[in-house]
Amino acid sequence: MADEQRRTAIGFEEGRTTRASWFNDLTRSRFAGPVTEHNRLLARSVSPETLAVHAGTYEDPLTGSVGTPIFQTSTFLLDDASYAAFSDGAMRDVPIYTRYGNPSQWAVQEKIAALEGGTSALVTSSGMSAIASTVYALTNAGSHIISAYDVYGGTYNLLHEDMPSAGREVTFVDPTDLDAIRAAMRPETQILLFETLTNPLLKAPPIREIAELAREHKALLVVDNTFLTPLNMQPLKLGADVVVHSATKYLSGHSDLTAGAVVGKRKFLDRIWAQALRFGGTLEPLACFLLERGLKTLALRVRQQNENAREIAKYLASHRRIAQVHHPELGGDQYAGLERDSYAGFGGMVSFEVRGGDDAALAFMRHLKVPYVATSLGGVESLVSMPANTSHSSLTARQCALIGIRPGLVRYSAGIENVHDLVRDLEDALDALDDGGLR
Ligand SMILES: *Cc1c(COP(=O)(O)O)cnc(C)c1O
Repeated sequence: MADEQRRTAIGFEEGRTTRASWFNDLTRSRFAGPVTEHNRLLARSVSPETLAVHAGTYEDPLTGSVGTPIFQTSTFLLDDASYAAFSDGAMRDVPIYTRYGNPSQWAVQEKIAALEGGTSALVTSSGMSAIASTVYALTNAGSHIISAYDVYGGTYNLLHEDMPSAGREVTFVDPTDLDAIRAAMRPETQILLFETLTNPLLKAPPIREIAELAREHKALLVVDNTFLTPLNMQPLKLGADVVVHSATKYLSGHSDLTAGAVVGKRKFLDRIWAQALRFGGTLEPLACFLLERGLKTLALRVRQQNENAREIAKYLASHRRIAQVHHPELGGDQYAGLERDSYAGFGGMVSFEVRGGDDAALAFMRHLKVPYVATSLGGVESLVSMPANTSHSSLTARQCALIGIRPGLVRYSAGIENVHDLVRDLEDALDALDDGGLR
């Protein structure tokens, strides 16, 4: 079959024809890569459902394989292009060694870049690898970083434990308090690092306004979009400079791998790639394949998860056994400043306080039959856990109170199951609290 025939006409752009023409290519700013001439390149204006299925796919010229082959190799034959890449410092664009780059990585990177509306992406061995590489690459000793005091635990530890000894000072603020963020800005502030929806209370920082503030101060805004995914928010379009993900969660979507991703302009990604090389957080070719496969259904999964979480939130909000529900759709003081038009949806997470404190919440979780009691989130199966005895167990009662975590708080990651089954299961578990007390 001719290569021409494999390319569908609508919305698809022609790829490069030779590796050597890469740096002169006029489309480079739009498809900054790395990609090969065999990757399917789609305009960023194509809808997310289509991008999720097709963007980046490596179309194997030899076999016509439908779907990206797994390039399970650590190294590649050296040729003129490889030597030229070494001498030009272009090792990110030529297959040389898998820690530098591999076509399995490039295919899934292009898909993630397309979904986030960015020009270049990097996949890494975990979300923390993506975040650590990004923070180190975009700051230097003597600089200052602003983040949230309730940012993801691993990120908090990196910023709080490692940054001071690396010569970076960090100020932690309430991510929804724009005045506090403004007050924390210093001439030496290099990055602001915030999440699009926080864990576990689903606070929604005003990303667009924070981006403006960062731009005014010539600082970069790094946004962790793990909880929302590009289906619900595209932070780059709101002015963020770099987006990071724990691809372990929604992007892969099946609780079967650990991965991270970074997306943004090529000039930032080149720096972050170089840092990731030194940290060594490479994503294995097989994991790239699994991530790419999982991503094909991202739009379907996330829509269902948005809907399931919304229905669960609405149900729980009116239950007398529940003291409070956290979900942006329900409104309330917490969401007074919500930039509604920045969101296509609010994701699959919902958290709520069971009356009776942690013991009641534990008993309630034991009565649930559908979700697994496990940490993590974003998979097709619902997961439920308590921050107090998992992710936030190291915090004192005072720290929990400062963030707003009260006794009895449960975090629910809605999967793609039938929502009536999920709600009936919640109802049964809450009823069981009445019958059996706090068993
Ligand atoms: C899970 C998570 C991380 C860390 O990702 P890993 O893949 O576990 O390293 C970072 N940020 C957020 C918001 C997360 O939920």
